Amino acid sequence: MTAIHWFRRDLRLGDNPALHSAAEAGGDVLALYVLDPRIWESAGAPRRAYLARSLAALDAQTGGRLLVRHGDPRDVVPAVAREVGAEQVHVAASYEPFGRRRDDDVEWQLEDAGAALVRTGSAYAVAPGRVRNGSGADYKVFTPFRRAWAEHGWRAPAPDAAATARDVTFVDAGRSDAVPDAPVPDGLELPEAGEHAALDRWRAMLDGPLSHYADERDRPDLDSTSRLSVPLKWGEIHPRTILADLAHRRGEGADTFRSQIAWREFHADVLHHNPTARRESLTPVVPEASWASGDAEQRLLDAWAHGRTGYPVVDAGMRQLRAEGWMHNRVRMVVASFLVKDLHVRWQRGADHFMAWLADGDVPQNQLNWQWVAGTGRDAAPYFRVFNPVTQGVKFDPHGHYVRRWVPELRDIPGKAVHEPWKLPRSAAPDYAERLVDHAHERQVALGAYQSMR
Ligand SMILES: Cc1cc2nc3c(=O)[nH]c(=O)nc-3n(C[C@H](O)[C@H](O)[C@H](O)COP(=O)(O)OP(=O)(O)OC[C@H]3O[C@@H](n4cnc5c(N)ncnc54)[C@H](O)[C@@H]3O)c2cc1C
Repeated sequence: MTAIHWFRRDLRLGDNPALHSAAEAGGDVLALYVLDPRIWESAGAPRRAYLARSLAALDAQTGGRLLVRHGDPRDVVPAVAREVGAEQVHVAASYEPFGRRRDDDVEWQLEDAGAALVRTGSAYAVAPGRVRNGSGADYKVFTPFRRAWAEHGWRAPAPDAAATARDVTFVDAGRSDAVPDAPVPDGLELPEAGEHAALDRWRAMLDGPLSHYADERDRPDLDSTSRLSVPLKWGEIHPRTILADLAHRRGEGADTFRSQIAWREFHADVLHHNPTARRESLTPVVPEASWASGDAEQRLLDAWAHGRTGYPVVDAGMRQLRAEGWMHNRVRMVVASFLVKDLHVRWQRGADHFMAWLADGDVPQNQLNWQWVAGTGRDAAPYFRVFNPVTQGVKFDPHGHYVRRWVPELRDIPGKAVHEPWKLPRSAAPDYAERLVDHAHERQVALGAYQSMR
């Protein structure tokens, strides 16, 4: 009997309990990926290109036996189950609002096909919704959540990729639909996709930057973070694999890294309990009328999105995003704060732009981090804490290397002076944008709007 494993956000063989559960149920496993054209179209070019590469890597791992079908999973999954006479379709459970609805619909349709949807595990160490306080409610604040999450604990990793490749027999299910062409936008370079590349990156982190992570993770000029957000987004590595390795490490680096993984789990938990947080502020903090609108909003948004605000660290970040489909976390915070509190553009507009360009673009992480910066989320930065783009630049890019790397117009300005080019003669950087707004003034405007709502 063949069982289906429907790959979604678990594009790996190793530490994949749902895949093992499919093998235990059926003996032979049909590896299926359903490419939903509506999601494909809305994904943004960097994510489409990365996904295409990740699917190619997974196909190679299954000996060329990954069956790709295009269409709505509500139709495709039951149709494939009928084709191969499968009685079980195995998945890692989805917890985002869209994925939950889709899976409930598929489950319903599968019943008609005489098959069951079997959910085992998720993309998280602890499934969203599972960590509760003493009265059974969800946590609103990160630190107690992290404590309870760590106390709850997680299972040991399932067998690794080599063992899975030995244990699981993938069946040849015949004709696959081709993955559509996914050209990489001009100037964009994506990291290598697939489980092997993800594990290599994690090992390099463990043996290198992890020991300095606590001190250096906020420095965009250093290569001090793991860049695992992209493989985590696609499930090329599971957080449990990471947490199991961290359990053998002592020191502040390992503790801080574990805490960052806990933020990922916290945001998934918050969205699980508050599905409207995908589009709506959890706690509105400024009056609607204070937001830019119409042509003015579009003009500000365009300058920001293209890295032409005249604030070097903001422009460097926005250009890194277009060049790598990724941006350093500290800089994400600075550019997001600048859009919301200096340009007075709603966080949702910035979140949409991020989703269009990030290879790690992920609804719970993106939307809830935007809400954190905008002061509207759970345990968010208070609205009155407005990031100063100059002091942030000087503190976290002290020698100006990061800015000069991404903003060539500023290449000739040495040291930290690069963070305030307007203090130099215009001839020092004649091609660089003038400041779009005055930060000190816009900060007062933002604080005024905040006060008026209190
Ligand atoms: C406005 C904004 C939008 C963001 N959008 C996304 C997004 O769409 N997808 C995404 O994965 N992350 C997002 N983040 C979180 C964070 O910026 C990235 O996860 C991080 O920069 C990824 O780089 P890294 O893997 O080198 O991180 P590392 O420093 O190596 O951290 C390790 C892992 O911890 C997790 N992590 C680290 N910081 C955070 C955080 N603040 N919130 C949640 N998880 C975290 C990530 O999974 C990351 O891969 C966003 C942050 C901000 C401020």
